[in-house]
Amino acid sequence: MNDCLFCRIVAGEIPVKKVYEDEHTFAFEDVNPQAPTHVLVVPKKHIIGLKEASAEDADIVGLCHLAAAQIARQRGIENGYRTVLNVGPGAGQSVFHLHVHLLGGRDLKWPPG
Ligand code: 5GP
Ligand code: ZN
Repeated sequence: MNDCLFCRIVAGEIPVKKVYEDEHTFAFEDVNPQAPTHVLVVPKKHIIGLKEASAEDADIVGLCHLAAAQIARQRGIENGYRTVLNVGPGAGQSVFHLHVHLLGGRDLKWPPG
């Protein structure tokens, strides 16, 4: 999708600080970090969001989370981190290409706001 910000980032058309890439996923530093570690993991496939994902996307959604876990392990933040999917505008989703936020490196409160 040419008009999708994260598809353009995956395609290398918009510069980001890349963290990780494999066949199905791409991870990069969030431009407006909310924690010392704030990485976005996105599927290379354009999926609008979790509520638009279908059964055929199960593997890719899981792979995004496993990539986040690997990044957290590499950064030594396994004492406590959070993976977040904001689903829909009411939950703060502002980019409509599915993405997992990986947040860590500080104490995280519960419940989130
Ligand atoms: P959402 O609000 O949809 O859950 O998360 C979108 C995230 O994308 C936000 O945390 C925002 O800071 C990040 N973001 C938006 N535009 C860009 C960009 O151009 N580059 C990077 N690296 N992050 C972005
Ligand atoms: Zn996209």
